[in-house]
Amino acid sequence: MKSRIILDEDEIPKQWYNIQADMPNLPKPPINPATMKPVGPDDLKPIFADELIRQEMSTKKYIDIPDEVREILTQYRPSPLYRAKRLEEKLKTTAKIYFKYEGLSPPGSHKANTAIAQVYYNAKQGIERIATETGAGQWGSSLAYATQIFGLECMVYMVRGSYDQKPYRKIMMETWGAQCYPSPTDMTDAGRAVLKKNPDTAGSLGIAISEAVEDAAKHENTNYALGSVLNHVCLHQTVIGQETQKQLEIAEEKADVVIACAGGGSNFAGIAFPFIRDQISGKDRDTEIVAVEPSACPTLTKGLYAYDFGDVAGLTPIMMMYTLGHAFIPPAIHSGGLRYHGMAPLVSKLHADGYINAVSYHQNEVFESAVMFAGCEGIIPAPESAHAIKAAVDKALECRKTGEEKTIVFNLSGHGHFDLSSYQAFLSGKLQDYEYPADLIRESLADLPKVEV
Ligand SMILES: *Cc1c(COP(=O)(O)O)cnc(C)c1O
Repeated sequence: MKSRIILDEDEIPKQWYNIQADMPNLPKPPINPATMKPVGPDDLKPIFADELIRQEMSTKKYIDIPDEVREILTQYRPSPLYRAKRLEEKLKTTAKIYFKYEGLSPPGSHKANTAIAQVYYNAKQGIERIATETGAGQWGSSLAYATQIFGLECMVYMVRGSYDQKPYRKIMMETWGAQCYPSPTDMTDAGRAVLKKNPDTAGSLGIAISEAVEDAAKHENTNYALGSVLNHVCLHQTVIGQETQKQLEIAEEKADVVIACAGGGSNFAGIAFPFIRDQISGKDRDTEIVAVEPSACPTLTKGLYAYDFGDVAGLTPIMMMYTLGHAFIPPAIHSGGLRYHGMAPLVSKLHADGYINAVSYHQNEVFESAVMFAGCEGIIPAPESAHAIKAAVDKALECRKTGEEKTIVFNLSGHGHFDLSSYQAFLSGKLQDYEYPADLIRESLADLPKVEV
């Protein structure tokens, strides 16, 4: 039995897998809020590179990964698939637990996979500066890392709550040459409007997105980049699942359960879409696919499947997705990357059509699993990734009861080295669980845009 399954450099997938080619039903189209008509390529041109727009709308099943992108990916890919043997023993489970580890990229998470691709296409088109938002700081640092490689400037609006919790993420971005400000700032109309109403706000991803989109629209030769949610981002992450399938084959295993945490849905899409491809084609119908989210921001488990904005100010296209309402500001939980009101339209549609199960957990139980995992396997997981661990642990304990010998595979989307203050809060018993904020969500869901298509 192998405990670490590694692939050669030349086994990085040569193509991304585009699930839009296989879905029985595609999501309803995104809507331009100015015209209330479906978004066309021209609507996106002011802020996205042409090739990324093509990928966003493509229904081609496989899209070639440029050689330059694959070459940069070799710095940390293919990523290892580990067997969590000591965790299995600790849980006394009859299940086997494997995890795909995306924490080996220089910024420490899966987000580098799409940052490299996005910056590559922008650089090729002559764009000189990219504006973005970041929650926990993982996306901002991934983009800073990638812009540095290609020689572009990088401007990051970081959600204030995380900015205060994680000062080292900002320094990491600055080390890679980026500028990073706590959002809301007074540098954009969107930021100023929020500050006027609520000067002490901890911010949200929805607000920071408004600021970055406005920045990109107003600055010469600046584009915007998003680290999750969009189709092309989910696409770029499918290297994760394709590699995982190859590694499981080497281990002579078949996944019974595939688990990932879901904030905007990209690392989940990355590992899950190739498995869902096999479900749709009938090759492998009975793999259970599980998305895990925080109870304080329960988009898939408690949200509405409806048209909504991706940001607070209503600048982004209106997307058909699971949402808690674009005005919803989630409680300041420590999984900053999971504090998003919406969900990738592709993940949302697949959930609506029954391909995905969703579960939610409170942060104390999540950190309990994270600490147990670190004790067994050594790796200190990002709090976001720890949601997937908690779900894997629960599945393994179920197997212990039933005696089933399931193979459980989860995505460990990143390490938690910049999240030690969250671990400190947990270890000293100061981590707070938030009840499902039903009233806030009801209020914000009353404010969805009205779309007739
Ligand atoms: C950003 C982030 C997430 C959540 O984003 P998704 O798009 O849902 O993947 C999860 N894990 C880590 C480590 C992250 O940085």
